[in-house]
Amino acid sequence: MLNIALFGPPGAGKGTQSEFLIKSYNLYYISTGDLLRKELAEKTKLGMEAQSIIASGGLVPDEIIVQIIEKTITENPDANGFLFDGFPRTYIQAYILEGLMIKLNTSLNCLISINVPEEESVSRLLKRGETSGRLDDNESVIRRRLAEYNEKTLPVLRFFKERGIFHEVNGLDTIPNVESQIRKIIKHELSKRLFNVVLFGYPGSGRGSQGKAIAKKFELEYVATGNMLDSEIAKKTPIGKKIMELYNNGQLVPDEIVVELIEKSLAERQDVKGFIFKGFPRTLVQSYILDGLLKKHNSSISQIIEIEVPLLELIRRLDARSKTPGSMPYDSSTEKIVKRIDEHEKKTSPVIEKYKQLHGVIKVDGMGTFDEVLNRISATIEHGMKHMR
Ligand code: AMP
Repeated sequence: MLNIALFGPPGAGKGTQSEFLIKSYNLYYISTGDLLRKELAEKTKLGMEAQSIIASGGLVPDEIIVQIIEKTITENPDANGFLFDGFPRTYIQAYILEGLMIKLNTSLNCLISINVPEEESVSRLLKRGETSGRLDDNESVIRRRLAEYNEKTLPVLRFFKERGIFHEVNGLDTIPNVESQIRKIIKHELSKRLFNVVLFGYPGSGRGSQGKAIAKKFELEYVATGNMLDSEIAKKTPIGKKIMELYNNGQLVPDEIVVELIEKSLAERQDVKGFIFKGFPRTLVQSYILDGLLKKHNSSISQIIEIEVPLLELIRRLDARSKTPGSMPYDSSTEKIVKRIDEHEKKTSPVIEKYKQLHGVIKVDGMGTFDEVLNRISATIEHGMKHMR
């Protein structure tokens, strides 16, 4: 999802710039001014309450704004994103917006302030008043609207500056130039967003080979904790030596080591569109760790996929693998295969259950050729990227 708020005094050009934003980024447009004027035209109770306030250039009470905005947002939960024009207009409304975004499991990506000096606002609005037919486009009301803006709306900037999502453009520039300034900000914003996939599946479901192929296809960083541990051992790093000792003593690798390796991998990423996690989280504790690790990068889980393969087929595949040169030490006997499947059932299934309730888990049929399964997973990811929150 891409959520943007346009900010600026009346007459800054928010409505004008909205037009290209709606089209280019397929956003759902919410102008509280337009919504109020609609209520007014339809003579609803709400409209009647707001009428005299709008006509005098004051701000409509936050309680009324909450009602109209909540209705519009909740009626459009599948929107690609929202574009807010004229909202938030008070410090309280900034909190309201934050709460509404949380409800949709999303957040505001940026607030773009179109800066114009006061006298420019006045002259633009007077000109607009010649044709707009709006009750509030006359000089005395315009002055009152600007006074309200300075007093009640400007403090909103502090709220978004503190959250690091405030941007400004020069509104005195030509319309196409303001547009390109805004495009630049959004392009940068979009490039920052990560698409993070967690890939589940029983041992033998093909999650490793599929995960790698998906990573390559969608420019995601493949994060496989098992491989990370192996590579530390192979490189004989200090961590690798510690892992080897644990293996030799038949002990599990503690979460501290796994976390350290994932942290390193997240921090060293370069120009990737996101991460695909395989073999992590394996336990409920690790699922909390993953949330925390992603949060540190201002990110979260975007999609959870589970590759489904019937149990007998899993055993058949793992048994066949044990007879190939690529066999892993843990594939070497029926006993070990059963143990791994059992571990998954006991420790990882509760994680998948938790995700089912929290985010939803997309099941993909893991039967068929490699390419057939790859195509199924790819379709899911393409859809997810398009509707990213
Ligand atoms: P606009 O079309 O955004 O210039 O809004 C016109 C008028 O509608 C404003 O002067 C206010 O009286 C009222 N209004 C619009 N949006 C809000 C808001 N978010 N909070 C309070 N009043 C608003």
